[in-house]
Amino acid sequence: MDNVTALGADVYEIDTRMAGYSGITAGYLILGDRPCLVETGTSTSAPIVRDALTSLGVGPDDLATVVVTHIHLDHAGGVGDIARFYPSAEIVVHEKGARHLADPSRLMASAKMVWGDKLDVLFGALAPTDAARIRALGDTGNIDLGNGRTLSSHYSPGHAKHHVGLLDSLSGDLYVGDAAGVYLPETGDLRPATPPPDFDLGVALDSIALFDALGPQRLLFSHYGPVTNVAETLERSAEELRIWVDLTRQARSEGLDLDHAVAMVRDRTRERYAALQGDETTAEQFELLSGAPSNVAGIMHWLDRTPG
Ligand SMILES: [Zn+2]
Repeated sequence: MDNVTALGADVYEIDTRMAGYSGITAGYLILGDRPCLVETGTSTSAPIVRDALTSLGVGPDDLATVVVTHIHLDHAGGVGDIARFYPSAEIVVHEKGARHLADPSRLMASAKMVWGDKLDVLFGALAPTDAARIRALGDTGNIDLGNGRTLSSHYSPGHAKHHVGLLDSLSGDLYVGDAAGVYLPETGDLRPATPPPDFDLGVALDSIALFDALGPQRLLFSHYGPVTNVAETLERSAEELRIWVDLTRQARSEGLDLDHAVAMVRDRTRERYAALQGDETTAEQFELLSGAPSNVAGIMHWLDRTPG
């Protein structure tokens, strides 16, 4: 299928075609004795992901595990649908996200407040998953991929309090979710993802340092795709966070309201990103995934509850 890309080591990138866009949100299939899907994409993407798995020879009873890096709807919105398509699969998620997958009502209510009418178009509705099928991860955990291969999970909050990174013991791939920001393969741009209400700079930087310490061979971004210059990319992730926080802090100390702070930070960071120089489509994708309003609001929210 044209939305499936082989990345080596039996890993396949699946373009989930989020909200009809290509190349903005990926799921990954690790194909072995115990096939594992990392990230489902949105609810509306679930049939597309299922077709991709079918094309890779994974039938309804073959999928062993579904794991999500965190429960934001672009990553986990399809969990309930995928769980229904694959009745043998265990659903794995950090313990702070588990109850929301079993009962999505609160998560959907807060998403509705953030996204309003755009919610249905962008994400659809997260369907509940039988709690008995959910395995909650603590600070670390393991997923059996078969043949001695494992995916180890590493708690990595900062972007979200229910975020984990996942390291493949065979390939050295690290699934970074959104903890290292949003990467645009077309331009090589990397922008932070600092939404409310969980963003915390120190915690986010600690998670990036943890990723570096795990010594991955390759980073697999949910937005979007593989990156092999690991150290340089993680350094850039940290630098991006510091720049956005410094600028937001400055806007705040000048007494700017949110709208003016967003305009100021957007303006002062624009030249860092090739995607914002030319083509409007890539700029639009960037804004959808790590929009300046969401990033600045998240940083403001953190500054408001951080003494000093
Ligand atoms: Zn995301």
